[in-house]
Amino acid sequence: MQLSKRVEMLSPSPTLAISAKAKALKSAGHDVIGLGVGEPDFNTPEHILDAAITAMKKGHTKYTPSGGIPELKDTVIQKLQRDNGLAYEANQVTITVGAKHALYNAFQVILDEGDEVIIPSPYWVSYIEQVKLAGGVPVVVEGYEQNQFKITAEQLQNAITSKTKAFLLNSPSNPTGMIYYEEELREIGQICIQHDILILSDEIYEHLIYDDGVKHISIASLGEDYYKQTLIINGVSKTYSMTGWRIGFAAGPASIIKAMTDLASHSTSNPTSIAQYAAIEALNGTHEPVEKMKVAFKERRDYVVNRLNQIPGFSCQTPAGAFYAFVNIREAIAKTKGIQSTDEWAEALLEKELVAVVPGSAFGSHDHMRISYATSMDQLEKSLDRIERFVKAYG
Ligand code: PLP
Repeated sequence: MQLSKRVEMLSPSPTLAISAKAKALKSAGHDVIGLGVGEPDFNTPEHILDAAITAMKKGHTKYTPSGGIPELKDTVIQKLQRDNGLAYEANQVTITVGAKHALYNAFQVILDEGDEVIIPSPYWVSYIEQVKLAGGVPVVVEGYEQNQFKITAEQLQNAITSKTKAFLLNSPSNPTGMIYYEEELREIGQICIQHDILILSDEIYEHLIYDDGVKHISIASLGEDYYKQTLIINGVSKTYSMTGWRIGFAAGPASIIKAMTDLASHSTSNPTSIAQYAAIEALNGTHEPVEKMKVAFKERRDYVVNRLNQIPGFSCQTPAGAFYAFVNIREAIAKTKGIQSTDEWAEALLEKELVAVVPGSAFGSHDHMRISYATSMDQLEKSLDRIERFVKAYG
């Protein structure tokens, strides 16, 4: 059967080969350490589990409105007011099957064939494929390492054409963990406003920022014109360790939200009813488990970055947020015999030392690898010992 052109354009995930190999080694009994996954290693907090159980027992196990139950929409509206200083009405919010689904539906409803979306690199893998699936054209603008992997307003301006429809902003970023500061957001936002380009602001890591006095700023909160120009994408997956529950949301212009909801009504129908009730508790309940998780992540971040920077041929800036370290390994690759690329380097590391990392190619970079520190200190220590040994043995 001939598959659709749309699907034939899809690039398989470059991380797939390495994770398949890691799994095969693990099931063959090898002690593989996975630093590839993008999810907290903590369990979903107990009070959230209880809310789900109560919801089930109360019979909340049926279809819900496509854009989510009104109680969760209200909770999201309160969250956006409380955390981001933003006021939305119910018709400006839709609940989705994870933030990924919110992004997918957003691209589907805003893009026509050939419309361009500006995506800074390094980028989260799915942006590119989702834009292509919607018939759009991803226009990648490189965020230079000297500028903490962020793009400037000037770079953005230079990438704009008559076809530019949207700009993807992800702060804190996956894979770099870097954040855009207020002045940078103002400048970038102004360009989007001037050219009437929708800002898709993926804020999924907003609560995972570690240094005192550094706070997430939603670009939509910088003024009325920013607010009108922005579609916020967010969800409960990362903050509340709820990756498997699949609840995300979008907030922004009512016409886009309505189209996204209509589209969802013909595909997913609604996000899981039980998970929606759990998400209400996550957003409204105690933040104590989140604070504890943040303390652990900060400690791990500092440990990992410090260790990485002691390895010959490695350099790693301290990420402000998320739970990834994006390490420049160009010099280490150059010294490793028979290895030309980050893909080959990551593969060799897995084979020789049983540590799985994600090569930078997955994120549009050829000099880096991504390490997730959302794993125990014990595993991190062990894996860094192994990485160090690998570099010393083969470099
Ligand atoms: N956006 C970014 C930047 C991510 O890293 C992820 C998950 O890895 C998502 C969105 C998707 O989150 P969700 O699990 O809510 O679909």
